Amino acid sequence: KLSERLEMIASLVTTGARVADIGSDHALLPVFLVLSEKCPSAIAGELNLGPFEAASKQVKEAQLSDRIDVRRGNGMAVLSPGDADTVTIAGMGGQLIATILEEGRAQGKLEGVKELVLQPNVGEDTVRYWLSDNHWLLVEERILEEDGKIYEVLRAVRAEAGRAEEQIAAIYDPALLPIEVEADVAVGLLYRFGPWLIQQPSEVLVRKWESEWRKLDRICAQMEQSDNSDARIKAMEFRKDMKRMEEVL
Ligand code: SAM
Repeated sequence: KLSERLEMIASLVTTGARVADIGSDHALLPVFLVLSEKCPSAIAGELNLGPFEAASKQVKEAQLSDRIDVRRGNGMAVLSPGDADTVTIAGMGGQLIATILEEGRAQGKLEGVKELVLQPNVGEDTVRYWLSDNHWLLVEERILEEDGKIYEVLRAVRAEAGRAEEQIAAIYDPALLPIEVEADVAVGLLYRFGPWLIQQPSEVLVRKWESEWRKLDRICAQMEQSDNSDARIKAMEFRKDMKRMEEVL
């Protein structure tokens, strides 16, 4: 049985898309997508030998070798133009996901790709900034908790040519926040919390940020005891940030 996390990722993939799952590990996501007939074919990309072999074995055992291509290489280097409609990247830090996307973009590997479904384990804001900077529109977000861990899943499609700035501004609209702050502060908060997630804050979202708040609180408490005045000033900034988090949620 697939984890709820992978099921959630699969649910955001457009039916009929040819998928490339980058960093596929055991290729569980592509196998599920093809077996469930949601996707006609898939590519499983893996950098490391162990997971690459595990993916190959999984695909062979599922008798899907004719429909899932397991390829070994760094990020999107395994793709040729036109190979995939949807790229999924899941279970890594947001920074690594952004790096894989950026290298792929620079190599022209995103040409022809219509949809990105991304599940960063941490650093979701880094992924959201990469999307906007590269004219991808964040159109859906999900959050779920499984085995005590909280996961966010993001789906993005390309902005319309010539309208990207306008479309992105509509998604990260300061008016979406229930508090009155300067526009740039509001936009920063939307990138952190997720512009869709924050519109209907679920119990899980609140729990996630309460736990982040407690972490910051512990760090601040230490910094406030410090002999270093820079640390004490930084703690004041953190406290201000925490106050805003409280207001938003
Ligand atoms: N995507 C799967 C999931 O969500 O369950 C597997 C996540 S696993 C924690 C991350 C996988 O990404 C590992 O198998 C690792 O070998 C692979 N990986 C890390 N960096 C990579 C890169 N630059 N290109 C391709 N695969 C990479």
